[in-house]
Amino acid sequence: MILEIVKYGHPVLRKKGERIETITPEIKKLIADMFETMEANHGVGLAAQQVGVAKQLTVIDVRAVTDRPSTLELDGKPADVASIMPLVLINPVITPAGEAATGGEGCLSFPEIFADISRPGTVDVQALNAKGKPISFRCGGLLARAVQHETDHLNGLLFIDRMDKKTKAELQPELDELQAITKKALAKK
Ligand code: ZN
Repeated sequence: MILEIVKYGHPVLRKKGERIETITPEIKKLIADMFETMEANHGVGLAAQQVGVAKQLTVIDVRAVTDRPSTLELDGKPADVASIMPLVLINPVITPAGEAATGGEGCLSFPEIFADISRPGTVDVQALNAKGKPISFRCGGLLARAVQHETDHLNGLLFIDRMDKKTKAELQPELDELQAITKKALAKK
């Protein structure tokens, strides 16, 4: 089922997600729906908050992007990024493992808004997978960016919080407009 994506201005985007301790049938359904929703919107990642659920769950798939490479290391050895796609991360914890890199980002909760964001270029990731089993890997490139962007969502953080002051100031009128539209729509519900 394709779910509605909540936009900037919706309070759920600022909520820290609850940890998921058990993979219930509801969580399995949510994972499937989130993949369907992400694909329908041509996204690389989607966090539970973006479909109105404040839980520590995100789905990621970078395979459709061919012009921005990703890297993966499993047990210290280079591995095929596709081997862990599509990726489900539950209760993810991220540790920076490399120097900062700047790259373009967008967000399905911020239609038509894009900006360059500086983040660690390589990160170590520990999480549970869709079966509730612990997984860990090191990643770089687009995958590292996506994992960090989505994990931020799970903690109530948004990419506008990571923008430099000048970029954010330039986008402020668009952000204010989007927030106002979202709040107006919420008030009608
Ligand atoms: Zn986002």
